[in-house]
Amino acid sequence: SNGEQTKEPACFSSVIPGWFSEMSPMWPGEAHSLKVEKVLFQGKSDYQDVIVFQSATYGKVLVLDGVIQLTERDECAYQEMITHLPLCSIPNPKKVLVIGGGDGGVLREVARHSSVEQIDMCEIDKMVVDVSKQFFPNVAIGFEDPRVNLVIGDGVAYLKNAAEGSYDAVIVDSSDPIGPAKELFEKPFFQSVARALRPGGVVCTQAESLWLHMDIIEDIVSNCREIFKGSVNYAWTSVPTYPSGVIGFMLCSTEGPDVDFKHPVNPIDDSKSSGPLKFYNAEIHSAAFCLPSFAKKVIESK
Ligand code: SAM
Repeated sequence: SNGEQTKEPACFSSVIPGWFSEMSPMWPGEAHSLKVEKVLFQGKSDYQDVIVFQSATYGKVLVLDGVIQLTERDECAYQEMITHLPLCSIPNPKKVLVIGGGDGGVLREVARHSSVEQIDMCEIDKMVVDVSKQFFPNVAIGFEDPRVNLVIGDGVAYLKNAAEGSYDAVIVDSSDPIGPAKELFEKPFFQSVARALRPGGVVCTQAESLWLHMDIIEDIVSNCREIFKGSVNYAWTSVPTYPSGVIGFMLCSTEGPDVDFKHPVNPIDDSKSSGPLKFYNAEIHSAAFCLPSFAKKVIESK
């Protein structure tokens, strides 16, 4: 091949020419692929490679370090579930912290909750925020809510300095544990989340795939069982463009008023917000906690 071709990022050429293929040591031996219509943005921030492309069937796609973060077609499933699983499980959430989530989609979903008074967000990479505002206006619309305070910085440091007992809910919308999000999966981080939550406060973190990452999930669950003295639960949902087509969430509460995540107490009035929910409803909320037997055995034994 000539010099021009070798400059092309591996993810655009190595499996099917003209298609994006998602390859990572986190899912060896498989590579989900999407047909590329046009590459819209390619950049390198201080933290990661950032790509936006127009796909043939999933709309625009945001890729960080070769890994799909969202597509226009299925982002609703992820953003609605990671947000409403925690916020619909407690009455009257007022103060919410989002770690990561630089695309703004979680903010858009938090904003549907009229009880919420303050939404703090700490995203490490300003390029993700800027690119999202430029290419994904229906996702980045979350940044326009007047309750949002955005800080660009490391979520680990941010939580270390957060006032004790200050949040009703913390949502960790992180990328995978290879790269800047590594520490967001480790025990000290979960300890500072617990410290920042009020008694009976809730956390929801992106917790990888049951099909691919039971080892990571086992570690997260056993750390969380030590740290969160309220309840500790694993939930999951379907997101076709995530590796193996599913993504999980770790949902925990601190000691205090009981939180029964499986039975939501705080329904959303979506007539008041930015258009109807596309994915989340009370039935899918409760169903998300039903686990396949192989996972149930491992998670319940921790
Ligand atoms: N909302 C996305 C979706 O729909 O799939 C999920 C991924 S979101 C873009 C993940 C974000 O976490 C990225 O923007 C990344 O820069 C950010 N991030 C990674 N490590 C971080 C850290 N240590 N502190 C704060 N943000 C971090």
